Amino acid sequence: MPPSLLQLYFPESIFKSNVHVLPLLQENPEEGRASIYKSVIINTSKEMMCFSDFPIPDDFPNYMHHSKIMDYFRMYAKHFDLLKYIRFKTTVVSVTKRPDFSSTGQWDVVTESEGKQESAVFDGIMVCSGHHTNAHLPLDSFPGIEKFKGRYAHSRDYKNPQEFSGKRVIVIGIGNSGGDLAVELSHEADQVFLSTRRGAWVLNRIAEEGYPVDIVLSTRFKTFFKKMLTTSMVNQWAENRLNARFNHAHYGLRPQHRIMSQHPTINDDLPNRIISGKVLVKPNIREFTETGAIFEDGTKEENIDAVFFATGYSFSFPFLQDCVKVVENQISLYKFIFPPHLEKPTLAFIGLIQPLGAIMPLSELQSRLATQVFKGLIRLPTASDMMADITQKKDEMARRYVKSPRHTIQVDYIEYMDELACLAGVKPNLLSLFLMDPKLTKEVFFGPCTPYQYRLRGPGKWDGARKAILTQRERIIKPLKTRAVGDYTHHTSMPYLIKIVGIVALFAIIFAYF
Ligand code: NAP
Repeated sequence: MPPSLLQLYFPESIFKSNVHVLPLLQENPEEGRASIYKSVIINTSKEMMCFSDFPIPDDFPNYMHHSKIMDYFRMYAKHFDLLKYIRFKTTVVSVTKRPDFSSTGQWDVVTESEGKQESAVFDGIMVCSGHHTNAHLPLDSFPGIEKFKGRYAHSRDYKNPQEFSGKRVIVIGIGNSGGDLAVELSHEADQVFLSTRRGAWVLNRIAEEGYPVDIVLSTRFKTFFKKMLTTSMVNQWAENRLNARFNHAHYGLRPQHRIMSQHPTINDDLPNRIISGKVLVKPNIREFTETGAIFEDGTKEENIDAVFFATGYSFSFPFLQDCVKVVENQISLYKFIFPPHLEKPTLAFIGLIQPLGAIMPLSELQSRLATQVFKGLIRLPTASDMMADITQKKDEMARRYVKSPRHTIQVDYIEYMDELACLAGVKPNLLSLFLMDPKLTKEVFFGPCTPYQYRLRGPGKWDGARKAILTQRERIIKPLKTRAVGDYTHHTSMPYLIKIVGIVALFAIIFAYF
């Protein structure tokens, strides 16, 4: 690989500090950079979100605080000796095709570091700048906001709840930010109102037997089984399960759409805060007044101190002038990676997807595919074939999801990984695997589809993959075992057989008597 392919640009040094602080967290969000709140804990579990040849340490919790994720990224960078390829505190100003692009596929890249601009030629570009940076703040949809005298901000500006102690706060939007903010604020605020224009089905992080929900749901067996059923049957099954935990209609959350038609909101605490009255679920806001808000059902809440718009994000790539067009979060990329109309396939978008599950392993597989394409080992289809694939995917997404700018880059975890893995030649072949290694096949098919499965064969095969798969359940349980519980043997006072005989005798007496 030419050395020019191996430069990574980061606007800030996130790797240099040895002090265990919250490294990505600035008190004030910076323009052009993603921002998170102090308490945020990821809602995908460690075995499903790790990079495929570097398991997350067994003592790390299954759902990690962002500081732990940062620790893991640091370990990864150190293990693969990546720091030497990273240019910190460097911003990419522009990426443009060179005049001879159609024959070389090369790019001119202008960067800026500490006020100084520099230009360099690159053979390939991976855009990994994410899609949760530009706040979507739809003030036009909220008449009266200009006269509202309280504070209002986007969820990306939220850091911690203390300053809202004793206040009355409205959170707008019921994505994962809206859910998290409403719950956390409700511990400090006098009252939180969670306003949603269409409601949501709310999933638990913790599923059967206390396993993470993605571990339980993301198996090849369940994916196979799901394909045997109609979408309506799958929806009904999932909605029944969620309603068995708490009835979404009683809690004011039930949407008009089916569960599979919306990006999942995951929040174990929300129903608890609702039933405790600390969070009150409200419909969309019709208009703001100077001191409060009037909702679409005509109800009014007064003395509102603050409003958080947890209304999501939009994405754009201003440094990439004419190469791609983004309209309302719609972009046309083959497999969500490659612009279809380039003369040479030397530009790839990594992580410009919203998976039902963890994003890291999917981005990793995208990168593995992109490097093969850059090196000419894999040829992309013709532009018209790529466009046909893109159109088909857009149509499927439009049929499945409710129309919203948050549903333009949705992918399913296993299906998308398998699709990329087929192209990259790394999809596990279950039949030949079964003939060689039935024990491993059982875990690959019935167990969680962890990223190691894509290191069992093909380019980038990793010798540790088998062991990582067979020990994944141990790594899930290990961080929970912080107290030895010993063996549990249930001693009944009466042997089972005697109980049965007793019950039969009791029935016989009752029948004889009556
Ligand atoms: P999001 O998923 O895009 O949700 C935005 C919410 O705002 C939706 O409920 C949306 O409603 C609503 N909304 C948008 N425009 C609106 C308008 N004009 N009027 C009323 N409501 C409006 O954004 P997010 O919650 O910030 O999440 C962004 C990403 O970060 C997601 O991938 C999420 O999973 C992730 N995240 C993860 C965690 C975690 O791991 N703990 C925490 C937070 C966020 P509609 O559905 O009707 O469009």
